[in-house]
Amino acid sequence: MEQGLGADMAQQARMRELAALIEQYNYHYYTLDAPTVSDKEYDALYDELIGLEKLTGVVLPDSPTLRVGGDILKGFEPHRHRARLWSLDKAQDNEDLLAWNARVRKSIADYNAKNPEATPLPEPTYVVELKFDGLTLNLTYDDGRLVQAATRGNGVVGEGILAQVKTIKSIPLTIPFSEGIIEVQGEGIMNLSVLEAYNRTAAEPLKNARNAAAGALRNQNPRITAERKLNAFFYNIGYADGVQFDTHQEMLQFLRDNRFKVNPYVTYWSTIEEVEAELARITAMRGELDFLIDGAVVKLTDMRTREALGYTDKFPRWAVAFKFEAEETTTVLESVSWEV
Ligand code: NAD
Repeated sequence: MEQGLGADMAQQARMRELAALIEQYNYHYYTLDAPTVSDKEYDALYDELIGLEKLTGVVLPDSPTLRVGGDILKGFEPHRHRARLWSLDKAQDNEDLLAWNARVRKSIADYNAKNPEATPLPEPTYVVELKFDGLTLNLTYDDGRLVQAATRGNGVVGEGILAQVKTIKSIPLTIPFSEGIIEVQGEGIMNLSVLEAYNRTAAEPLKNARNAAAGALRNQNPRITAERKLNAFFYNIGYADGVQFDTHQEMLQFLRDNRFKVNPYVTYWSTIEEVEAELARITAMRGELDFLIDGAVVKLTDMRTREALGYTDKFPRWAVAFKFEAEETTTVLESVSWEV
């Protein structure tokens, strides 16, 4: 889409204003690990921009809705991810979830109609995982040895933070998978009990576990990272030489077999109504966890369906993040049509 088609001057001016504000907030959040506004405020501005883009059919060439994450900090060695790291589409309520599910079902039906010779894609089945609120990590193992660990960065290139990540005791330095390269994705977090203990004696108390984890992992001094006693959960394999998985279950089992810490709270469902009920349970129990989550992630379990549905510029079509706080927005988002 090009600038100038259909949008009036006031709308374009507001879009530019929103883009500048969001970029400014992104810088504080992703680059400095010190946000200046709440996620709720940020999400409201972001949704307003998406709403205007849909309404006008105009997406500014440098719109923040086209990009993932933040800039690479100087001082860290850049790491080019073998598989891109994505952001997630989000659902703020059950209506959004059902709209996502309708798009998924339509894409599956379209794919099956267009590929009559192929084995049909199955009915969708779902996995629901917690959405950990920390810093995305991408670990690279070469012939079984941890050789790099990187932040998500802009999704294509991240910051190499191997020394910092090695301070996380639950991360294996060697794994049984010993032939070839594998990249494993997860989230570096700080447990809430650890944050509380840290703050009891700290000269400068840390305000929030997400920023405490992200700030420590992107600190140039790994000693400071070590003091924060971080933890990590792993949930995806971006790349693995010679290994293929048919389902999410198989992939998580491979992670466990290779000694990665997979959060035990993972559930599998065959209808979207069951998924809705599960999301309500997670919403109710979030306060009991010893780590921050900012929602839950619903993903399709079948890998062939994931491949067929693919990705937009920013996120996979086969997953959606269910965000906790239903926020009031005045913008009605039109459903997007997906060509598979
Ligand atoms: P996202 O919400 O699009 O989610 C993608 C991330 O989720 C992944 O990178 C991964 O690290 C994480 N994740 C955690 N558990 C996961 C799981 N089980 N499976 C898959 N992924 C999992 O992330 P984003 O694009 O970094 O962030 C957007 C959000 O960040 C915004 O909605 C906003 O709330 C917040 N934000 C806030 C500010 C601010 O100034 N307050 C600025 C920028 C972003």
